[in-house]
Amino acid sequence: MVLTASSWITPTPQGIHLPGADVWVDPSVPVGRALVTHGHADHARGGHGQTIATAETLAIMALRYGVAEGAHPLVLHEALALGDGITAWLAPAGHVLGSAQVVLERQGERVVITGDYKRRPDPTCLPFEPVACDILVTEATFALPVFIHPPITGEIARLIETSAANPARCVLVGAYALGKAQRVIAELRRAGHTAPIWLHGAMEAMCRLYVAHGIDLGDLRLVSEASKEDLEGQIILCPPSALNDRWSRRLPDPITAMASGWMRVRQRAVQRNVELPLIISDHADWNELTATIRELSPAETWITHGRDDALVHWCQTHQLKARPLDLVGYDDEDD
Ligand SMILES: [Zn+2]
Ligand SMILES: [Zn+2]
Repeated sequence: MVLTASSWITPTPQGIHLPGADVWVDPSVPVGRALVTHGHADHARGGHGQTIATAETLAIMALRYGVAEGAHPLVLHEALALGDGITAWLAPAGHVLGSAQVVLERQGERVVITGDYKRRPDPTCLPFEPVACDILVTEATFALPVFIHPPITGEIARLIETSAANPARCVLVGAYALGKAQRVIAELRRAGHTAPIWLHGAMEAMCRLYVAHGIDLGDLRLVSEASKEDLEGQIILCPPSALNDRWSRRLPDPITAMASGWMRVRQRAVQRNVELPLIISDHADWNELTATIRELSPAETWITHGRDDALVHWCQTHQLKARPLDLVGYDDEDD
């Protein structure tokens, strides 16, 4: 079968462009019309004329950028005609609250752009929905065989045990403010940790947004309103940038932890002075990436976002057509 999709969908360094409809997916620069997969800063930029996304992603963008101009909410599975005969709809990606895959259809061909995704259950968002397609545009953040994320239950158990074993100290967990922080909190609750969880001020608004969208995070309190004694034996969440800065000096002898897929790499933990590395990722690991490509068995796989060489090679050894896309502007904000 010869696909014509390459004529109506064009990968550019600034994002994926549909030239006939003049719509972009996750563009890294302001454009007239953008489809945005989710709220992380490397996908959701402000300043577009129109932003088409889930209501949750639009709420996250409004919180982060303070604007809701040109917001076009799209309900999951609801078809939207973009022009040039292209129809778009969204399917859940299982990455963070509101995260979606973009499904594009034209003349019997279907392209799925995963955005960031994972296949593990996450109490803070809908699970990834596999959508069969001709071209799969997949992320590749952790696309090396060394990246196999362990079950989250074990990582959360180590966090709770460390806290319980150190009643005079606190455990300070570095976690990204959108997605990772709320998932860690929700998993702590699921593991039976009912004590207050303390937040750095930079985490508060996003946690409130999750709660407003029906995600139960339990008793959350602000570090700024606590005494040093209040925080003994407690779990505190902060942005990774606050782990080693002046802010943490007022805490009771903190044990430094970090929740990230990168904690698989010892050197990354050492760089941040992390004593308790927690391998918790909101991205597909190597097994999830390859299993998903196998499951969807697209005619072509386009690979974005980082370590594409290994995944291109894996596709080729499995007789699957693959090509790397050189998109700019992606970073490690979300991991
Ligand atoms: Zn990303
Ligand atoms: Zn992301």
